[in-house]
Amino acid sequence: MSVTESTDVLIIGGGCAGLSLGVALQQLDNPPKTLIIEPRDRYENDRTWSFWAPQQHGLSHLVSKRWSSSLYGKSGHSNERLNHPTTPYQTIEALAFYKWATACVEASEAVDLALDEAMLSIENVQDQWVIETSKRRLVASSVVDTRPPSAKQTATATLYQCFIGDYITTPDVLDDSALELMSDMSNDQHGFLFSYLLPLSPHHALVEVTRFATSALDWSVLQADMTALKARRGWSQATIHRSERSRLPMGMAPSLSTDPTFVFAGTPGGALRAASGYGFWRIQRWAQSCAKALVSKGHPIPHPTEPLLQKWMDQLFLLVLTHEPQRAATLFHALYTEVKPDRLIRFLSDESDLLDKLAVIAALPPAPFLRTLKKLWFGK
Ligand SMILES: Cc1cc2nc3c(=O)[nH]c(=O)nc-3n(C[C@H](O)[C@H](O)[C@H](O)COP(=O)(O)OP(=O)(O)OC[C@H]3O[C@@H](n4cnc5c(N)ncnc54)[C@H](O)[C@@H]3O)c2cc1C
Repeated sequence: MSVTESTDVLIIGGGCAGLSLGVALQQLDNPPKTLIIEPRDRYENDRTWSFWAPQQHGLSHLVSKRWSSSLYGKSGHSNERLNHPTTPYQTIEALAFYKWATACVEASEAVDLALDEAMLSIENVQDQWVIETSKRRLVASSVVDTRPPSAKQTATATLYQCFIGDYITTPDVLDDSALELMSDMSNDQHGFLFSYLLPLSPHHALVEVTRFATSALDWSVLQADMTALKARRGWSQATIHRSERSRLPMGMAPSLSTDPTFVFAGTPGGALRAASGYGFWRIQRWAQSCAKALVSKGHPIPHPTEPLLQKWMDQLFLLVLTHEPQRAATLFHALYTEVKPDRLIRFLSDESDLLDKLAVIAALPPAPFLRTLKKLWFGK
């Protein structure tokens, strides 16, 4: 029979949220004894995290590229430009993050990472968490569960952000001074779609097609979009180095725990912003606060509850996109054109004040929102 091992804190899942918390803990004095368990036996460059942030921040050394301008535009129209020099859009390759985070954890005496180990079951026995993993039996005082959401939880999403992206090399010379945040915006029978392009160097880009859909779309739909996008740009023969894809739940109800010694974090815990699907920077903020709570209070904390007005605005926006997907391109275009870039970026990055929120509301045409509210309140 295997020996039961004990730890103060067990982090289930060594992805973005689990590793971020591990790193934040080892940066503090006297962190609790912590174990992160992760089923993967090695990390791969499986995604790219992009976000708006100041030039300098705690993860600046991991940023592979920054852009001070973003392009947006409707299909059939030329792109327009949004300048945001003080808050550049920046990108971190997942593998750079994984390597750095695992090195930080390895250098720490208090935090351990066990790869190739999955959680199988968990139960609370006499105020302790007893966990069966694929390798052993563990006892922990606190648990942070960052495993991906279940299908049941994902089904509570209002919309799915479905996308595929290819890292390509092209003989064309790309203008790498601006990214395409939302170009080719249009709508068809599968819903709203747009292109997203990160020119990483003059010959190297991440090119993505994204759709907001009411169901998790079949990959073949997105693959056809990608083929069409590359044909339009003359990149059908471009070399593909790697690909990424996902169907992110937007507006999904977070999993909540009533026991203060157990929290859900990362995607199931509400890390993804409802209206955008962005979560990386929100996870970094949560990891800092959760690590401090573990040291000062002795228990973890979940992601903060969404500010009421922001939650309401995001949810209504998603419902409008659901009921009137044909208006999506016009709504996003209005946001980018009418709201000052700094205000819009603060709104998208969870840093907006009331004036920023009012500017966002004022930029949008009221009719689709009033029609959606009427449907919600009167059922028609
Ligand atoms: C392809 C892609 C691109 C994205 N791009 C962006 C972006 O540009 N900007 C942004 O802000 N957000 C982005 N996101 C959204 C979000 O930031 C990421 O999904 C982020 O990785 C979420 O972190 P997480 O810790 O919740 O999930 P993950 O990083 O997926 O971590 C969950 C971990 O749980 C582990 N696990 C699963 N089962 C078990 C088990 N039984 N026991 C133990 N561990 C288990 C998994 O192996 C995994 O490592 C992107 C998401 C994807 C998928």
